[in-house]
Amino acid sequence: MIFDHDVVVVGAGLAGMRAALEAARNGADVAIVSKVHPVRSHSNAAQGGINAALGKDDSWESHAYDTIKGSDFLADQDAVEVMCEEAPNDIIEFEHMGVIFYRNADGTLGTRAFGGASQARTYFVGDITGQALLITLYDQILKAGVKVYEEWFGTTLFVENGVCRGLVALELLTGELHLLRAKAGVDAAGGGGRLYEPSTNALICTGDGYALAYRAGAPLMDMEMVQYHPTTLAGSGFLMTEAARGEGAYLLDANGERFLKKYAPAKMERRARRHLACRDDGDRGGSRPQR
Ligand SMILES: Cc1cc2nc3c(=O)[nH]c(=O)nc-3n(C[C@H](O)[C@H](O)[C@H](O)COP(=O)(O)OP(=O)(O)OC[C@H]3O[C@@H](n4cnc5c(N)ncnc54)[C@H](O)[C@@H]3O)c2cc1C
Repeated sequence: MIFDHDVVVVGAGLAGMRAALEAARNGADVAIVSKVHPVRSHSNAAQGGINAALGKDDSWESHAYDTIKGSDFLADQDAVEVMCEEAPNDIIEFEHMGVIFYRNADGTLGTRAFGGASQARTYFVGDITGQALLITLYDQILKAGVKVYEEWFGTTLFVENGVCRGLVALELLTGELHLLRAKAGVDAAGGGGRLYEPSTNALICTGDGYALAYRAGAPLMDMEMVQYHPTTLAGSGFLMTEAARGEGAYLLDANGERFLKKYAPAKMERRARRHLACRDDGDRGGSRPQR
């Protein structure tokens, strides 16, 4: 069958649902397509929290600097700037939507410290921050009238004259193929962590979004930027939340030594995480990429 909408979003994780909500708020007829029920999206796995410079001694510039430094100065600085400037309002907005963030005894929003952050600016809901955000956003998109095509598998972007005009999707329950036509498409189909082993990612994280875009002719960039999490358990791929380090946990080597004193003596366990393309250069303000 053919379905017509103004905007089709592939992916109903935090990215896709937030984009769908914004488009719907601006009057568009929006469809969102997900191969799993939206609240089973992998955003569900995010435990530790979400960063924003809301504290009275904090600033978005400091958040942006920490983020760029943590990326070894390789991040897209314009994108970081937008993210850090908008994050405080997003936290407040999520609260107003119904996310019950942790609060201090005096009723103010509470924070924890995350790796690479010069301030405790991580807002959280116990160890289920991603789930809390996901469920709240799902409520909001339903309220905003977004049409949800769940357990539909996007197979091909529908491209007309070089512009994405929708998606071909397989309805998993019936095996039928459908065309969702739209004026604009958003590809928010998540990451490809399952290309690696072990991985903290769920089995659904197979990089379909990259493949959809690539097959439609879009170049992919920064594909080497895959992150190692320092507290992934070898073997199982089970993730111990970053909050453990924020709350004071130590990383020890096989000899029981806090080995980070050799590499990051100032920040120790609160050093920013690494990605595959960088070697560690301690606390000296960044390392060179190894491509
Ligand atoms: C264990 C873990 C802990 C984390 N903790 C934190 C944290 O504390 N703080 C933080 O900021 N970040 C954290 N992250 C990272 C964060 O969770 C992710 O970056 C973010 O949730 C990704 O959101 P997303 O919407 O892009 O993707 P996802 O949530 O993965 O959503 C992808 C969506 O695309 C859909 N989809 C995929 N392929 C198709 C297809 N072919 N057809 C139709 N639909 C498709 C899926 O069904 C899903 O709805 C953590 C990640 C992990 C794995």
